[in-house]
Amino acid sequence: MAVSTPPSPNLHQHLRDSLDGLPTAPRIGRLIVFTGPSGVGKGTLLRALRDRYPSLRLSISATTRQPRPGEVDGKDYYFVSCEQFQTMVKNGELLEWAEFAGNFYGTPKAAVQRHLEEGEWLILEIELEGARQVRDTFPQALQLFVLPPSLDELEQRIRQRGKDSEEAIVRRMARAQVEIDAAPEFDVQIVNDDLEIALQQLEGAIFDAVDA
Ligand code: ADP
Ligand code: 5GP
Repeated sequence: MAVSTPPSPNLHQHLRDSLDGLPTAPRIGRLIVFTGPSGVGKGTLLRALRDRYPSLRLSISATTRQPRPGEVDGKDYYFVSCEQFQTMVKNGELLEWAEFAGNFYGTPKAAVQRHLEEGEWLILEIELEGARQVRDTFPQALQLFVLPPSLDELEQRIRQRGKDSEEAIVRRMARAQVEIDAAPEFDVQIVNDDLEIALQQLEGAIFDAVDA
């Protein structure tokens, strides 16, 4: 497994420099795929990362899942009907898509293209099948996987989040082991035990990619 180096306190400036490039050089964006079982803390880590590095962009997915309390359409997801989702698939509007725990999720292609053309680093927080599809189309994308300290802790986190039905929890836990088994496919694995340490490892992995 790859081990990321400690983060630099100057990552933000470093990232900005890399994004901005030389005045005459074209700016090249980059995709970061962020995967891990539901409830492992992906959203929590990404929120903290965005607070520190506002120049990072987060892709907004389309989903047929019902909004959880507090989720906002167009911010957390584009909440769409099954018919709308099917139309997006048929029209080739999604970069990748997958079914997860009884709902459909997909990444709108146009926004990804726009962000990359603008030279931005864009994070796709997506499940395993979608990550594999992105690996086929963007082999240069940085692929990160977040692991829980244990399955018991994972289940506790999903329950403590308190926003999923019992049926949704059972489906998510059933899928978790399959996803965890696929972790070695990814460039870097991060165990989200202590949140601050995981965040530092995430920063370190991105820092390495900026330097590469
Ligand atoms: P995901 O986006 O992967 O589904 P969330 O970010 O929603 O997961 O986190 C699930 C729950 O776990 C939340 O209640 C969150 O506060 C909690 N959590 C996240 N990271 C940690 C951690 N390192 N230690 C303990 N609890 C955590
Ligand atoms: P949740 O319902 O908990 O928000 O998300 C369930 C799972 O779907 C998570 O693993 C999340 O990363 C994944 N997911 C969210 N958006 C997308 C997407 O656009 N494509 C794919 N393939 N998975 C997604």
